[in-house]
Amino acid sequence: MEEKNNLSAKKRMMLGLVLYMLVCIVLVCRLAYLQFVGASQLQAKAENQQRSAREVGARRGTIYDSSGETVLAVSSTVYTVTVNPMKIPADKKEILARKLSEIFELNYEKVLKRVNKKSAIETIIKRQDKEKTDSLRAWMEENEIYVGINIDEDTKRYYPFSNLASHIIGFCGSDNQGLEGIEAKYEKILSGKSGEINSLTDAKGQSFGDAGENYIEPTDGKDLVLSIDSNIQAIVQKHLEEACIDNVCTDGGSIIAMNPQTGDILALANYPSYDLNSPYQPVDEELKAVWQDLEQVQRSNYLMGMWRNKAIADTYEPGSTFKLVTASASLEEGLAEVDRKGAFACTGAIEIAGVRIKCWRYYRPHGSESLREALMNSCNPVFIGLGQKIGKEKYYGYLNKFGFLKKTGIDLPR
Ligand SMILES: [Zn+2]
Repeated sequence: MEEKNNLSAKKRMMLGLVLYMLVCIVLVCRLAYLQFVGASQLQAKAENQQRSAREVGARRGTIYDSSGETVLAVSSTVYTVTVNPMKIPADKKEILARKLSEIFELNYEKVLKRVNKKSAIETIIKRQDKEKTDSLRAWMEENEIYVGINIDEDTKRYYPFSNLASHIIGFCGSDNQGLEGIEAKYEKILSGKSGEINSLTDAKGQSFGDAGENYIEPTDGKDLVLSIDSNIQAIVQKHLEEACIDNVCTDGGSIIAMNPQTGDILALANYPSYDLNSPYQPVDEELKAVWQDLEQVQRSNYLMGMWRNKAIADTYEPGSTFKLVTASASLEEGLAEVDRKGAFACTGAIEIAGVRIKCWRYYRPHGSESLREALMNSCNPVFIGLGQKIGKEKYYGYLNKFGFLKKTGIDLPR
């Protein structure tokens, strides 16, 4: 009997020990899980409730034309409205959501959802002008709401000349980031570094006083001065538009004006250009009318085409302008003189590898001519003949010496 009791006491002890160990193991596992696996998630959750960080946008650099005075792109002050739902009294949430949706023309249900969220910061709307945010400020004062709504300064890009040099300047996205042209190419220089207002709150949404607020000042972006002369650019665009309309150029057209001494680009235009202040609107009037009915893919294809800088992104056969290169190479090689009468003869065509290539004036051939005359006449057979005499290796060497095989150095995204 005693032995039995002893045995069962032992058994009970063993059982107790095993149970105790099991509980310990479970606890250790849970602790390890919280420490190593769930920690970052939990921390993020706590941060989300306790820490509200509001971005303070840096002022984006101004873009000037070659005069250094004419402004092509500039940032103006706008306001971003955020709320801290934890700080808004429960009985004010509905009227606040109502007012916010009224002032900023937003969907009431959506705003109310944000105002009711269990987070320390919710963005209501970005990029609002002073008039609207002032009316919000006045309403807050009237209703004695002093916490939980933040109206922070931000900047918005503005292009004073709308469609001037649109393919050069490019535009910015909803977060002020450069998406096209110079705005994209020089994003790092123009953008600067945004700052932050950090405020820490406890679990009930009460702030920790001064210790809880931390302001990191933004660093403004740097300005840029382009080689583009806004006057020349305007003249080029005007004449390009006229020429494209008069000649019914359905594929549009491009003009580049360059300073031959320095290689500076003074103007670069494609037709049609677009309005940098509303880059997502089509330029075509007929298209504007049916724009909303189009499929998303159709709209984006059109916009990509509209933004494309055809002057540098597309290839274009140089044609007869290349005769200058052939003429220069043949003079350098001693294969021709400028004014030797009757040095060449145009019969209206020349045969190359069994193919007859015509002169543009095949119906009334140029006949006897000097190099100068052949160039003035843009006579095809003469320059084909000279090209053959130079030979492909040497000709290629001249192309290289003229710099045709090198990149142009135009600092624009393709
Ligand atoms: Zn000819």
